[in-house]
Amino acid sequence: MTEEKFQSEIKILEVFFTHYCRDKHQFQYIKNYHLEYKKSAYTYELNLCKECHELISYSYARLKNCSHSVKPRCRECDDPCYEKEQWKRVAKVMRYNGIRVGTEKILNKLYGLLFQEKTL
Ligand SMILES: [Zn+2]
Repeated sequence: MTEEKFQSEIKILEVFFTHYCRDKHQFQYIKNYHLEYKKSAYTYELNLCKECHELISYSYARLKNCSHSVKPRCRECDDPCYEKEQWKRVAKVMRYNGIRVGTEKILNKLYGLLFQEKTL
């Protein structure tokens, strides 16, 4: 996948996990993430609980290793990289956010964010 696509994917994970964890879990703490993909590097600070930190680290690692040049929706992938149990947990986070605010609204907001960052 392209670096832009990678960046939008990690942004989605960041926003979704943050919402989900804040509503559902407690004992959040801040952890720094440094991700490299192709020629780009991204640094994030996430405030999540232990379980969500573990799951999002796992998701980042899988995303980085996604073998598709154009990443399909994970649900429609013919060669899914998430192990079943982990995938169920990530899907739960995604579903929760979809129901909560409407995926469209979130995506619009995200693309707004990405666009802003590029023009800075
Ligand atoms: Zn959590």
